[in-house]
Formats: sequence, structure tokens, C-alpha cells
Amino acid sequence: MNEQAINKDLKIVSFKGGVHPQKDGKILSKKASIQTAPLLERYQVIVSQNIGAPPKVVVSAGDEVKKGQLLAEAAGFVSVPLHSPTSGKVEGLVDIPGPMGVMTQAISILADGKDEWTELSVSIDWRNSDADTLKKRIMECGIVGMGGAAFPSHVKLSPPPDKKVDYMIINGAECEPYLTADHRVMLEEPEKVLEGAAILGRAAGVKNVVVAVEINKVDAINAMMEKAAQFNVGIVGMKVQYPQGAEKQLIYAVTRRKVPTGALPADVGCIVQNAGTAAAVAEAVNAGIPLIERVTTITGEPVVNPGNWRLRLGTPISEALKLCGGVKCEPGKLILGGPMMGFAQRSTGVSVMKNTSGILLLDKSDVTQYESSPCIRCGRCLEACPMNLQPSALSQLAEAGQYENALKYNVMDCIECGACAFACPAHRPLVQHIRRLKAEIRNRTKKEIKK
Ligand code: SF4
Ligand code: SF4
Repeated sequence: MNEQAINKDLKIVSFKGGVHPQKDGKILSKKASIQTAPLLERYQVIVSQNIGAPPKVVVSAGDEVKKGQLLAEAAGFVSVPLHSPTSGKVEGLVDIPGPMGVMTQAISILADGKDEWTELSVSIDWRNSDADTLKKRIMECGIVGMGGAAFPSHVKLSPPPDKKVDYMIINGAECEPYLTADHRVMLEEPEKVLEGAAILGRAAGVKNVVVAVEINKVDAINAMMEKAAQFNVGIVGMKVQYPQGAEKQLIYAVTRRKVPTGALPADVGCIVQNAGTAAAVAEAVNAGIPLIERVTTITGEPVVNPGNWRLRLGTPISEALKLCGGVKCEPGKLILGGPMMGFAQRSTGVSVMKNTSGILLLDKSDVTQYESSPCIRCGRCLEACPMNLQPSALSQLAEAGQYENALKYNVMDCIECGACAFACPAHRPLVQHIRRLKAEIRNRTKKEIKK
């Protein structure tokens, strides 16, 4: 099949540093159209799915619920509600494996097979609505950053009044190897992504709205360029370079603005939202549909039929893997998200959450543990670091326990992208060392505050 040609009007941008993993694994699933998973008998919806306060559960064992009905209400400003993925009976609260390796609370729903919707909120005429109305709807529908961070979207849309925001950037980079969910959403539902982008722009009161996409997704770029003018949204192409989708790198690539140490995107006039989130915002505002499902890439060499699936929240990973025909060989590792920044899992009992962008099984040969050897001072980690840090020096400071000195080397700017470790020929455990430094510094700061 011929790849599409890139549109000659497309502006292509990038950032300094980063790496280009040769084996990006996207070939396994990028041509696979989005499929909708059949209804399961049971869903186990993890309560704590957003950054900030976990929502407060408002249902009890034995309650009958409809699809889209409130299961848990927001517990403060930095929190979002949680809704039922189908109709059925609440079995109660259960403990299941969580994505961070510890048991976590989930609401178990026994499906009644009818999949009946609750009464949804009415459509909002967003072109004639004020920002507060849009933000309220986005919050009530439980929308969070679906690219990984799960930060409540309405909070990002509400920067302090002294921050003048003039850019809404929709992150369609999907720079993590293997992941293709956002690619397929942008290709198959370009209008939804663009309309969501325009709604987010209006909710933030900004006129410059762009969708930024890596140029390995030419078909998605072309699909959106055809419709972008209708929504007054720009499309920007980005060089294929990991971590192009990291917030600071994305902002620099699109606007040439640098987010200073310790600052937020709003400090340089930007808000970043993910492409899948934009599509969810369009559904929430146009049809009152809460965030109860998402497109997830299920992939990796051991998977029989890798693909992109619309999965409901609370779908156990074990069930999701069955959709792809199971596995053809024993995998070496299970990861939620991509191989660079995702989280390794010990159990398939964890369930799909609002930020589950990928379910990745890596082959045993790809997770070989290399012996780490001493630093050969080649400088490759410095070249790769998109934050202009000195990973080799930070690693040495971690080994020497020199936490105070690490602050002088701006260790807290590290976005833990793993580009340095990927580039290191000596297989130094650079990210582990840097994480240790950051954790120790945070602990010490907390102790100082308590004094
Ligand atoms: S030091 Fe941090 S930001 Fe720089 S490449 Fe390594 S993990 Fe990424
Ligand atoms: S890439 Fe590895 S070997 Fe080269 S300077 Fe950095 S830490 Fe040392």
C-alpha cells in the first residue's frame, strides 16, 4: 500500500535533543481500524483515576445503575467524577491490582446485558456558550488528560488570572513507540478531534488553536487538514523524535517558547491537551456523554492480532488481551502505556483506566537485562537529553549520595523520558539514579516543611 504524500503547506517543527528509536513497533497496529469491544459480564472500575483527589464513591452494593450514571463524585477542584461503563448492579467495592503495583479500590459492576444509558445532559451550543459553561460540562463528564497524565482537563483550562494564555496545543505527537491509538482517532474521527480542539480553545479563551502531529502519521494529518478550516484550527507537523510529545518539548516545537525551571505551560501562555481528550470533550459538550471508554492500543510482538480497541473503563487487561487472540509466545514484560514512559505490570488483573493509552506485551528478547558498565564519557546522554541536563553527572551524584549538588544540576527538571538511558552504550541505569535523587530531594523538602 502506498503511503500518502505529506501536504506541502504543512509547517514542520521540532526540539533539540531526543532520540529516534529504530524499532518503533507502530507497524504492528497502525493500520488496524478502531474496533469496539463487546460487552463484558463484569467491570471493575478503579476509583482513583485522576491526578488530585480521588472522587468520592456515591453508590453501594446492590444499587442498580445505568450506563453513564455517576459512580463517584468529584472531591474538590482538582478531581473529576467517575461514571458507570454499562447498566447493571453494583456488586460493591473490591481491591484489585492497581497500575502502580499496589492494590487499589475498584467498583465492581455486574452488567445486566441491556447496556441502557442514563438520561444524559443536553447538548451545548458551544459556539454561543461562555467559558464557564464549557468548563463545567468538561468537569461533570469526568474528562482528564488521556495521554497518560490523567490531569483534570477543567483545571488546566483555569490558569490563575495573572497568566495570559494565548495558545491551545492539542498533542497528537504520540511519540512513544508501539502506540497508535491517537493516530487512529485522528485518522478515523478527525472532525471530533478538531471540534474538541475548538471547544477547548473557546473554554480557555484563546484564538490560536493547533493540533501538533508527528509526520509519521501523514494519513491522519491529511484527514485533519481537509477539515481544519471549518473549526479554525491549525495543523502543525513535527519531526519524528522522542519525546516530541512531552509538554515542554511540544510547546517549544510549536511556539519556540521555553518553559523555565519550575514553571508551568500557562507561564508561557500555553495549555496542552491530548488528541484523545479533545475527542472526548466534543462528545461531552455535544451529547453529554461522560468519559466511560477510550481507544487503547493492544500490541507487542507476542500479541496474536495487535490492534486499536475502544475499551470501557474497568475492563480487566486479561479480557482486553483476549480480544487480540491472546499471545503466541510467553511475553517478557507487560506494560501499561508505551515502552519508554509506561508502567510495567505484574498482573493482568489491573483494569483499563482513563489514561490507558496502551497495553503492551514485549518479547523476552526485547527485555534482556544488560550488564551496566562504567561511564565511558561519550556524551551521548547529553546530546539525547531534551531538557539540556547532564545525565551522566547526575548519575554520579546519585551514586555518591550528593543530593544537594544535584539541585544545582537542575535534576528536578528531568521529565523521566528515558532518552538518556536509551542512548547510553554502557547501559547505565541513568533514569533509576535520577528518580532516586528526585525522590530523596522531595522527601527532604517535606521534612523541612514539617519542621
Ligand atoms: S535526564 Fe531526564 S529528561 Fe534528560 S534524557 Fe534523561 S530522563 Fe530524559
Ligand atoms: S551515554 Fe552513558 S557512557 Fe556516555 S557519557 Fe552518558 S552515562 Fe557515560
